[in-house]
Amino acid sequence: MTREEFADILLPDVQHTRAYYEEKYGKRDLPFNAMVTRLAPSPTGFVHIGSLYQAIGAQKLAHQSSGVCFLRIEDTDHKREVENGIEQIISSLKTYDVQFDEGPLCDGEDVGNYGPYIQSKRKDIYQAFVKDLLIKDLAYPSFLTEEEKEAITLRQKEIKSRIGYFGPWALEERNMTMEEAVEKVKKGIPYVIRLRSHGNFLKRVEVEDAIKGKISIPENDMDIVLLKQDGIPTYHLAHVIDDTLMHTTHVTRGDEWISSLPIHIELFHVLGFEPPKYAHLATIQKEEDGKKRKISKRKDPEANVMYYIEKGIPVKAVELYLMTLLNSNFEEWYLENPKKDINEFTLDFSKMSTSGALFDMEKLLNISKNYLSTLSAEEVYQNTLAWAKVYDLSFATLLEKEKEVAIRTLDIERNTEKPRKDFAMYSEVKQNIWYMFKECFEKPENYEWQKITDKEEIKKILDIYIAKYYDIRDDNEEWFNKVKLLCDELGYASNMKDYKKNPENYKGNVADVSTVIRVALTTSSRTPNLKDIMEILGKEEIERRINLL
Ligand code: GLU
Repeated sequence: MTREEFADILLPDVQHTRAYYEEKYGKRDLPFNAMVTRLAPSPTGFVHIGSLYQAIGAQKLAHQSSGVCFLRIEDTDHKREVENGIEQIISSLKTYDVQFDEGPLCDGEDVGNYGPYIQSKRKDIYQAFVKDLLIKDLAYPSFLTEEEKEAITLRQKEIKSRIGYFGPWALEERNMTMEEAVEKVKKGIPYVIRLRSHGNFLKRVEVEDAIKGKISIPENDMDIVLLKQDGIPTYHLAHVIDDTLMHTTHVTRGDEWISSLPIHIELFHVLGFEPPKYAHLATIQKEEDGKKRKISKRKDPEANVMYYIEKGIPVKAVELYLMTLLNSNFEEWYLENPKKDINEFTLDFSKMSTSGALFDMEKLLNISKNYLSTLSAEEVYQNTLAWAKVYDLSFATLLEKEKEVAIRTLDIERNTEKPRKDFAMYSEVKQNIWYMFKECFEKPENYEWQKITDKEEIKKILDIYIAKYYDIRDDNEEWFNKVKLLCDELGYASNMKDYKKNPENYKGNVADVSTVIRVALTTSSRTPNLKDIMEILGKEEIERRINLL
């Protein structure tokens, strides 16, 4: 029996040769030094914030070098797959505006010349390469049952050996003749195809990682599974073939893969491929009770990229924040260039964290507040409305009905040197502006009165103020002068310096009086410019509110 015949028996359905695929997926026509990067998620549930972090990094690295970034779905592990997992990945990344050039991007169709981009559709490709390895005796069939594997593991534990299928433990199957193997196949005994490893655990493989620098780990000597019993490849084999045929120049992936690197390097060599550059990104961690740990898919709601969308944290703010995690000098650049497109910033491997990237929600919310303060009132209105249409329908209806009031309110102290930063998410807009809408201000229960709490006094201040002093046409200065006149009339200090010198001479001061007006009209003691609020409410509404007291 020739090795070709042997390989045919083991993998009878393979349509093409490896040469066919190598020719089909020829070199990309790209400028020198252009990076080809990818995101290669598995459809195992929601998109993790760490995947978005990787996606943003991969996309920027490719595009800043006039290269290509593609999406590849790694669905070779059916046990972990969830329903609609692929759609979830595509739509979540689209929500975040991640720009892939190639991949399964629209309704079941691939974009790009290096597809299919879903691994389950590439079975023939993987098998063609494994067949070649079988012919070269670099792979062999393994008929081990679960029980036999467990027995080996047990024995290895007993004698404190390394765990796995390698060297002496694999001898019997490694030495099996082709005829013996074929006999088992003919009997219908299931088999996997394993790598015949030539690695030596006592030697080290050294890889120059673009982020972590020199990585040195013992060589792989495990006869790892290449094709499972159903002919589907393992991640190890699939990504090595895909990244080669898709001409990935830089594999940017989570650093949890570093421990598998020796397997991957051996696979590249065995297959006769040139390994790409690896750039292992630090895992996103959070601090809890003074300890750092990975953001967990099960425990932390913020692990899910859709969490931010539900809260109404702008996509752009999340992107800005992840950029600060990706490159230590991004924040400084952005502060200096707040108006510039993020794409003008050059991501640099040398500025990436080599250990954990610590996720700080407070910082993200601050970035979000700053970002929202740079938008126009109309933009904030439209974005809040779009958010509310999905997550708070009654607020959406109100916003549509009261568009003018909403926009005028959102515009208060916006186009100033120090714009207000009242909210970090669209879900916080309602609690900040609800009092501006007549229909929300029916019978407020909680007024945040401060110094002046006596009902009679409050009424007196407001009645005199409205009857004698308030004029909607006043500008800021005039408006404040009138409040001061009111203070003089009622025995409150209109001048803070005077008040501080002799507080006993006064009932209170101008701040106390304006707080009374503010709280009466909004219930809140902290609002944007009161004069602007009053102008938007109008005299009739102001009077109505005073009469509610
Ligand atoms: N499918 C792998 C994962 O979801 C991707 C690893 C890689 O980027 O190569 O973790």
